[in-house]
Amino acid sequence: MTESQSHSVRNGVIATVLGGLILSAIPYARGLLLSLIAWVWSGAVWARKTITLSYPTPGWLLLLIGLFALYGAVCTLFALRPKKEPLHKKYTEDIIYGAKWRWSWVGSNVSNLWCYCPTCDATLVYDDSSCRSRYEPSKTDFICERCNGKVVTTIQGGNKSYAVGAAERELLRKVRTGEYVAAIQ
Ligand SMILES: [Zn+2]
Repeated sequence: MTESQSHSVRNGVIATVLGGLILSAIPYARGLLLSLIAWVWSGAVWARKTITLSYPTPGWLLLLIGLFALYGAVCTLFALRPKKEPLHKKYTEDIIYGAKWRWSWVGSNVSNLWCYCPTCDATLVYDDSSCRSRYEPSKTDFICERCNGKVVTTIQGGNKSYAVGAAERELLRKVRTGEYVAAIQ
């Protein structure tokens, strides 16, 4: 058998199988269509009966009830619509004072704020021992152990909680001014 012969045999088999499948699907599709038509028809008959029947209830009352139902439906839809998260909730990382700070949002408060090395992403350690010395200006060094103890950033003015507070104030300032939008793109 040549290659073209074997191809035509294969095509014949595929056509036969497909044809069989289509033929066997037709009665099923016809049944489905008939039951759909019957369902739509019975719905139309019911609606016609309901509309043409005479009710003892006055028309204005029906209209009032209808308006209330519509108002209720609209209120429910409004209550169920998905609430949009404020855009700044996506702002959870930024370079602030030379280090990469990350945090999460709990409501409108910043939580789990800490800094990481901008080069290797290691968690930084801090040294605020200067704050315990009488002779040195207060500052906090943030150090990367993986980058041979490099001081990644120094925040002047206070100990570790002061420095973390300074980073938080800076990121909240960026949220207020809208500068954060550049950091999330
Ligand atoms: Zn590093």
